[in-house]
Amino acid sequence: MASEKYVIALDQGTTSSRAVLINRAGRMVDCVQRPFQQIFPKSGWVEHNPQDILYSQLGSLTELLAKRGLTAEDIDSIGIDNQRETTIVWDPTTGQPVYNAIVWQCRRTADLVEQLCGTSEARQLIQEKTGLLPDAYFSASKIRWILDNVPSARERAEAGELLFGTVDTWLVWVLTGGLVHATDVTNASRTMLYNIHENCWDKELLNLFGIPASMMPEVRRSSGPFGETSYPGVPAGIPITGVAGDQQAALFGQCCFEAGQAKNTYGTGCFMLMHTGHEARLSNSNLVTTIAASAPQVEGTEYALEGSVFVAGALIQWLRDQLGIVQNAADTEWMAKSVEDTGGVYIVPAFTGLGAPWWKPDARGAILGITRGTTRNHIARAALEALAYQIYDLADAMAKDAGHPLGVLNVDGGASANSFLMQFQADLLGCELRRPQNTETTSLGAAFLAGLATGYWSGTDELKALRETDDVFRCQMDPERVGKLVAGWHDAVHRVM
Ligand code: ADP
Repeated sequence: MASEKYVIALDQGTTSSRAVLINRAGRMVDCVQRPFQQIFPKSGWVEHNPQDILYSQLGSLTELLAKRGLTAEDIDSIGIDNQRETTIVWDPTTGQPVYNAIVWQCRRTADLVEQLCGTSEARQLIQEKTGLLPDAYFSASKIRWILDNVPSARERAEAGELLFGTVDTWLVWVLTGGLVHATDVTNASRTMLYNIHENCWDKELLNLFGIPASMMPEVRRSSGPFGETSYPGVPAGIPITGVAGDQQAALFGQCCFEAGQAKNTYGTGCFMLMHTGHEARLSNSNLVTTIAASAPQVEGTEYALEGSVFVAGALIQWLRDQLGIVQNAADTEWMAKSVEDTGGVYIVPAFTGLGAPWWKPDARGAILGITRGTTRNHIARAALEALAYQIYDLADAMAKDAGHPLGVLNVDGGASANSFLMQFQADLLGCELRRPQNTETTSLGAAFLAGLATGYWSGTDELKALRETDDVFRCQMDPERVGKLVAGWHDAVHRVM
């Protein structure tokens, strides 16, 4: 019998690169992680050295292969998931980037975005074409900044001598020995230059941002052939057959393949995505519309609505590091369970303003309803509840925008380990909440996309069957109590606004 083959996910994140070995049962067998340097040239500016990204990623891959004694024959395929929007421009003849990667978090182009698309017409045009709300976050203004600020970059780009890519594109280009300049639909949909309805780079937007079309990569489906490894030191001939931005990869890894299925990642902040099937629903409440990764069997384009919460696990960190009232994040679970309720305390963690659906960048946070009887346990509980209320608001807006009720919420991320939080969330949402055993959903999604394209897995039904028994949380609270709690939360939100 032939020995088992594996799929490798290259999980290229904002602070580290990982190579993850996944078997046919969908289990993570091994993983090598390499952090890399964060560069902060000025306040609000964030960069990475593209070579650091590359070498940390290749280093994790080769170390993983060496550690397990694996050769190209043992690997069915590679899937890539990556930090989204981060922008790299390079010269294909030398293979050298012309500037550092401008990271998604970087705010240097906030004024430029205001200048180029500050009017309500421009805003509407961008939302209609790309599903996004104009922001420095997305790649378009970052490319423009490089063309405006790197000596001779614009002339070289106009002469067809420079290429643009998000991190997936850079990795694919290098790994294929410079043969393939391509991205996938999910990454393309985060550039603010891609028409998500017509599935092409949008000429009008390229003109608006002054970006030559020759720089742009070819756009492919997330699950399908991208090329083969051909780079010194990396075993040659491994097919690269899956690419997706990290959040869309996580949606896929959570087996959200149909409209109404959603995932939320409870990390430092939260990222929530809801699949909306073949319909690109535009939001009325400051959510963005994005392309979802699809299985190869699916015809046409699938979409998702996406929203984020700025402060989630960060609130728990704040209780620990600034207030010192919890020793470690996990303690909040027993602290919350040790009291019956918050005693009327609400925390609105608007440290950096209120995100969707409220969108009040100037709002600041508050702790309300404290009395002489308030203890640290009440505060800890109020903090966990605040995470859940923010997701409740987001889910409510999403369901309205999508025209679908939320069917099931799949969870992952560090704070999803907190069972009090999960139960309270299920109580508020009134829908089933599923926490998989394997919460490495991002890598899993990239692996799934790669392995579906090669036939390593037969289809999404097989993937669903691989999911080991999840922890399931169902609503246990009576609707009247939910209504009262939510009304109290909204009262608190309106006070900080
Ligand atoms: P990120 O990937 O955004 O850095 P993680 O997914 O690793 O974040 O999650 C870490 C965050 O989750 C931290 O902000 C931490 O405070 C919070 N967290 C971790 N474990 C728990 C827990 N058991 N209960 C509540 N919050 C937690």
